[in-house]
Amino acid sequence: MKQIAVLGSTGSIGSQTLEVVRSNDDMHIVSLAASSNVELLEQQILEFQPEMVCVYREDKAKELKERLKTHSMSGVNPEILTGMDGLVACATHRDVTIVVAAVVGMIGIRPVIEAVKAGKDIAFANKETLVTAGHIIMPLVEKYGVNLLPVDSEHAAIFQCLNGEPHGGLNKILLTASGGPFRGKSREELLHVQVEDALRHPNWSMGQKITIDSSTMVNKGLEVIEARWLFDVDFDQIQVVLQPQSVIHSMVEFQDGAVMAQLGTPDMKLPIQYALCYPERRHLVGERLDFWKMKEITFEKPDAETFRGLTLAYDAGRIGGSMPTVFNAANEKAVALFLERKISYLEITQTIEWCMGEHNNIENPSLEDILEIEQDVYKQITLVKN
Ligand code: NAD
Ligand code: MG
Repeated sequence: MKQIAVLGSTGSIGSQTLEVVRSNDDMHIVSLAASSNVELLEQQILEFQPEMVCVYREDKAKELKERLKTHSMSGVNPEILTGMDGLVACATHRDVTIVVAAVVGMIGIRPVIEAVKAGKDIAFANKETLVTAGHIIMPLVEKYGVNLLPVDSEHAAIFQCLNGEPHGGLNKILLTASGGPFRGKSREELLHVQVEDALRHPNWSMGQKITIDSSTMVNKGLEVIEARWLFDVDFDQIQVVLQPQSVIHSMVEFQDGAVMAQLGTPDMKLPIQYALCYPERRHLVGERLDFWKMKEITFEKPDAETFRGLTLAYDAGRIGGSMPTVFNAANEKAVALFLERKISYLEITQTIEWCMGEHNNIENPSLEDILEIEQDVYKQITLVKN
């Protein structure tokens, strides 16, 4: 039996994880965690009957308890926890063997670290955590001998391409990107982009934050840094290639020039199920690529001038230390402000650039440093934007 914790169960990756669990008899949900969507959590609890649930917001946890009282006859009675302690408890529950890290944002750092220390494997979607704390998490993964299995489609693709290959054979990672809804646009054309425009991703259906990140190319930037940690490569070895059809999920080039790619339809259930079942490959219901119908797969160089998010990510990654935390925290705050319609679209990357310029880099930041810098960046932006 696979004993699973899902952190972020009400989100896009979380819900698709539960779909995968629904169709695999040997998967059992031990714990679920989410921020506030108690209507959906209630349904998930009734269906999957977890032993433990965390609702990050205390007021919402109370509401969930009230809702569950009406089902008291059903025998479903999970322990309900709140806040960071609750998240960590869900991630480290003694019965859990694998944690699906699918919360959005660097809120995932502590639960992921504690899960690794408790010897749990991680099915890893929560890229912001690795971007900001990769230097802390990767050595722990090594020390505790757990598997960190990528769920992000590009990294899952790279992982599959590298499967069984001896270390040292890899020359370059070819990280593919769709280019998002604004591929080919100029900065002038992006001046008046509205929230609705940015939320319209051409190929993938995802949570709001990552959809905005995809449109600014910040998502690809975060993925470059994520790849640096997952596959232990230099930034010079990671090349971003636009591939607008999202058919090739990423590629690797080996020392001898051979290139391997993983292709598929845009369905996150594939990387989720692969991470949960690794190294086994199971049947997955869904569409298949039809190479008789597919007209073309095309490639482009990304426009690093218009989409500054990607350039800034390389800069932050190369500088290292606490700079990726500033890059990420500034983006998290700026995207939230954009979604609240308090800043304009181009101000997202301008805010990141400004925060990075203001920051005095710390070379090897501790977890406490990272969390403090996160708060400082949020405060700095709030001061300037209000
Ligand atoms: P989403 O917004 O749809 O869901 C986020 C989940 O995190 C929700 O369940 C929410 O309740 C939970 N959450 C947020 N703050 C929380 C808190 N403080 N405590 C507990 N739970 C909290 O996001 P998503 O699109 O599913 O993305 C999740 C992560 O996976 C992100 O890091 C994203 O970059 C990554 N990812 C997503 C996709 C995708 O297709 N959606 C693909 C690749 C990577
Ligand atoms: Mg991705």
